[in-house]
Formats: sequence, C-alpha cells, structure tokens
Amino acid sequence: MGKPTGFLEYTRELPEERSPAERIRDWDEFHLHFSEKKLQVQGARCMDCGVPFCHTGIMLGGMTSGCPINNLIPEWNDLVYRGLWREALNRLHKTNNFPEFTGRICPAPCEAACVLSINEPPVTIKSIECSIIDKGFEEGWVVPEPPAKRTGKKVAVVGSGPAGLACAAQLNKAGHWVTVFERDDRIGGLLMYGIPNPHLDKKIVQRRINLMAEEGVGFVTNTEVGKDYPADRLIKEFNAVVLCGGATKPRDLPIEGRELKGIHFAMEFLRANTKSLLDSNLEDGKYISAEGKDVIVLGGGDTGTDCVATAMRHGCKNLVQFEILPKPPTERAPDNPWPQWAKVYRLDYGQEEAAAVFGRDPRKYRVLTKRFVGDGKGYVKELHTIRVEWQKGDNGRPILKEIQGTEKVWSAQLVLLALGFLGPEDTILDQLSVERDERSNAKAEHGSMASLPRM
Ligand SMILES: Cc1cc2nc3c(=O)[nH]c(=O)nc-3n(C[C@H](O)[C@H](O)[C@H](O)COP(=O)(O)OP(=O)(O)OC[C@H]3O[C@@H](n4cnc5c(N)ncnc54)[C@H](O)[C@@H]3O)c2cc1C
Ligand code: SF4
Repeated sequence: MGKPTGFLEYTRELPEERSPAERIRDWDEFHLHFSEKKLQVQGARCMDCGVPFCHTGIMLGGMTSGCPINNLIPEWNDLVYRGLWREALNRLHKTNNFPEFTGRICPAPCEAACVLSINEPPVTIKSIECSIIDKGFEEGWVVPEPPAKRTGKKVAVVGSGPAGLACAAQLNKAGHWVTVFERDDRIGGLLMYGIPNPHLDKKIVQRRINLMAEEGVGFVTNTEVGKDYPADRLIKEFNAVVLCGGATKPRDLPIEGRELKGIHFAMEFLRANTKSLLDSNLEDGKYISAEGKDVIVLGGGDTGTDCVATAMRHGCKNLVQFEILPKPPTERAPDNPWPQWAKVYRLDYGQEEAAAVFGRDPRKYRVLTKRFVGDGKGYVKELHTIRVEWQKGDNGRPILKEIQGTEKVWSAQLVLLALGFLGPEDTILDQLSVERDERSNAKAEHGSMASLPRM
C-alpha cells in the first residue's frame, strides 16, 4: 500500500469519454485515457485490504462478486501508484490473458465489491487495468512469447470467443500445438461480431489475435465443426478437444405478428453491421439499417444497449427500449448488500447517446409486448403493449400481472429482439454425445476437467 492515507485524501475520478453527440457521428471508440499522474492518484486510493474483496470472484445471491479471474488488484494498484508500470503489467498478465478487453468491456464486479465502496465511491480498478495494458502495448512491452519447448500434443479448440481464445493462449503457453476452429469469417466470437466497434475497437481484438498467431496458435475460419469438419475426425486427429462454442441460441418472442419483416434478433442486426463496417465501411449496404426509422429494442441488457448505440449511429428517427422488469433503484436495496453486484440504475453508453439526441433515457420499464401489427405489405408497423406489475407468488417467486387499461400502441419499422440467450447449439454436442445439464449447457463439474466420451 503506497499511500496509507490515499483513500482519505483523494476522491474517485474517471477518465472522460467522448461526448455522446460527437461520438454517434462515427464508429470509433469513445473511451479516453487519464494522464499517468492522475492514475497514480487513483491507485493511491486503494487500501490494500487484508481481505481484498475486489479479487474474490465468488457467486453471491446468484451473481458474481469480485473479479471472476482473480486479478491481483491491490498489487497492481500499488505498483501503478509507485510508477512501476512494467511490473504492474507483469502482475496483470499473471491472471488475465486479455486485459485490453476486460479493461474496456467488463462490467467490473470488482468495483462493486471494493471495500472502499461500503461508504465511499470504489477504486477506479477498471480504468487502471485498461491503462496498464494500453501503456504496455504503447511501450512495446507486449511481444509474442512462444513457448520454449513443445510437448508434441495437439489440441483443437472449437469456437474463438474469449473463452476459446483464453483457452488457446494457456494451452499454447504450456507447449501444446493449438488449432482454433471458427465458423465465422473472422476470429473473436462476440468480441468481434457482438460488441460494437465504439465499445471495443476491432483493431484491438485483431492485435491480440495476431500476437497469438505469432506465438504459434493456428486459426481456421469459415469452418463449422460438426458440419464442415465432422466431430469424430476432430477426436481422431487431436489429442484433446475443447468446446468453446458459446451460448448462441437467442430467446424468441413467439407472439402474433412475429413473422413480419423488420423484426430481427439483435445478433442479426449487430453482426451484419460490424461485418459491413469492417468489410467496406458500410458501403456494401449489407446491413440492416435503422436510418429514418422508429426503432424499438426489446430487452434492457448489454445486447439491447449495443442495439441502441448502433441504431443511434445509423440516424434512427426515434428509439424506445422496453424492459419487462421494474426500474432498478438508484441506491442498493436492503436485500442487495455489499459485496454483491449492485443492482442499481445505470445510464449505459447507448442510453446516454439516445438521451443526448431525444432528451430522455429510451428505456420504458414494466412493459410487455402483446403483438406485432403489420402494414398490410408484410412489414411491421406497430407494437401493442401493456404495463405489468410484479407480485410475490405463494412460493415467494415473482409473478407477472398485466395492468388492465394500460394498453398502448407504438409505431415501429424496426424491432430488435435482445431477450437473452438460451444456451449452446446442439449439433456438435449431439455428435460428441455430451450430456447436458438442466439449463441445456454441456454438463461439467465447475473447476474440474470434463471429459468427452472417446469415439
Ligand atoms: C451483444 C452483446 C454484447 C455484450 N457485451 C458485453 C460486455 O460489454 N461486457 C461483457 O463482459 N460481456 C458482454 N457480453 C457477453 C460476452 O460477449 C459473452 O459472455 C462472451 O463472448 C462469451 O464468450 P464465449 O467464448 O463463451 O462465446 P462467444 O463469444 O459466443 O464465442 C463462441 C464462438 O464459437 C463459434 N462456434 C460455435 N459453434 C461452433 C462450431 N460448431 N464450430 C466452429 N465455431 C463455432 C461461434 O461462431 C462464436 O464465434 C455481450 C454479449 C452480447 C451478445
Ligand atoms: S477491495 Fe478496493 S480498496 Fe481493498 S484492495 Fe481491493 S481495490 Fe483496494
């Protein structure tokens, strides 16, 4: 702990972001950086707690509390305070393969669990993390580090999202020959085609992929295992197979009018946009445009936020976002104490941008969509909704009740379904006879190595 009185002397400060009105005119990142001096001051606020809840990474109340990859947060806070950036980078890389991703897009359960946040704003852990790695790249400290020795064993990793990439990086470090299979045309999973460029610049994703390729990881794109490459061939050709295919099945809304044109899953909208942006700066027109449209986003999570931000950049005419749950409180509720993830109201980047243009947060809470209505030519024209309230059922579980007389009609020419994901796809799991758990995920004991049956 560099400065024992730091938390008493300094207040929390965050680096500025580009203004919403400016940034919706382009697709560049909106994060800006602090000066080193300011970061040192923020690092000085860390109390180097005897029990640093920031790095615990446990489940509390069904949510992650503290850093799920157990980053050595107090150690690098102290190193930053003392200006020892290279040492801070080494400490950060001990637990985190990709701090340049987490430093930008992680929701930061570490900050929600920071001991200082019991009665003061938490340490700015996420900004410090991002600055350590960005400085590492700027200074040329992050270079390919291929393993000194190879084991001769071959491992196939199926899926190139953050899980597949982290897996590949670790296995390669251990000396195995790793090949990552990806069905899409670019590597990165949702880092590449889910999270939009302003939130996570694709150059940053590609920089890490290039580094991994230089370290010896092989990447095969446009290849769906189970379809283009039979799963049993994979089992024969590799010593081990790791399945990292993500949870790609979207939750649908099978109500009247769902078949109308203009209603899309969020990922159809987001993927096409980023692909067209990377391929042609949106000049090929191969994306779903929100320009001049009344847009309705169903679902108030991260995916919905990214749809809002993308529609704003297209120049939509109007935008609303429906959330079925009640509006969260501005402060922690009594049943959501520290160090749990704080379920509080936040204005995320997309909503901030919509508010800057339309003068209001686009989210409407406790709204249930009853039906989509068409224009007679097969296109969506309206959404019919009703307000709901949540009551406690006999078993204590919340039940949804419609409030009669609150029906409303909304004009919409583009509707985006951001209602979450149901689990992994079945093809490859079926081909490999992998057992599923009650939530349709591949059955595995957390913390132990799950084995596929040999074919
Ligand atoms: C729009 C959106 C925004 C998000 N924003 C955030 C955020 O801001 N912060 C955050 O922490 N989390 C965010 N998340 C969640 C985060 O992106 C996911 O938790 C994470 O990407 C999951 O990683 P993964 O590697 O398991 O799967 P994915 O990233 O989904 O990658 C799986 C990959 O496997 C490939 N694949 C699947 N099956 C096969 C097969 N048979 N053969 C070959 N390839 C296959 C898929 O094409 C895909 O590329 C967001 C999610 C979405 C959808
Ligand atoms: S909990 Fe907060 S104050 Fe304590 S060590 Fe972690 S970052 Fe520092």
